[in-house]
Amino acid sequence: MNAAVAMSHCNVCWEPLQGQANIAACGHLFCDSHAETALDAAEGCPLCGGQMSHTTLKVVPVEPADSALESALLGLNPDAIAQAAHKAVEWWGKQTELTYQEFMRRASASHAQREQRYKAKLAEVHDAYKKASPQSEAQREATQR
Ligand SMILES: [Zn+2]
Ligand SMILES: [Zn+2]
Repeated sequence: MNAAVAMSHCNVCWEPLQGQANIAACGHLFCDSHAETALDAAEGCPLCGGQMSHTTLKVVPVEPADSALESALLGLNPDAIAQAAHKAVEWWGKQTELTYQEFMRRASASHAQREQRYKAKLAEVHDAYKKASPQSEAQREATQR
């Protein structure tokens, strides 16, 4: 298996990318539909406001052929290769961080949601109990005295 786009989730909808990835000049990553929406809106990157245009948008296949990968840097001098590699590794680090942050945000949001549901259920059960057995509560209070 190969996947040149390591972090293959759109930075807007966080859906896994299909077919191709669109990388803006700022480094943000988009699915086809969100890249198109952003380009149509012409308001720059929806995440950071960075410049976004058809000419600066880098479109890469999510799973390029091995042969394409092997020859991707052919013809470049070592300085250019090193620079490109450095930039690519840096990009990968930023995407990893962004993806991690998003998944942490989702995890804590769903945790808060569960806690809220649990508390609501508990209050519901307590109310139902109070309504169903006003006497037994009164009795218990009486026996406690
Ligand atoms: Zn998207
Ligand atoms: Zn951006």
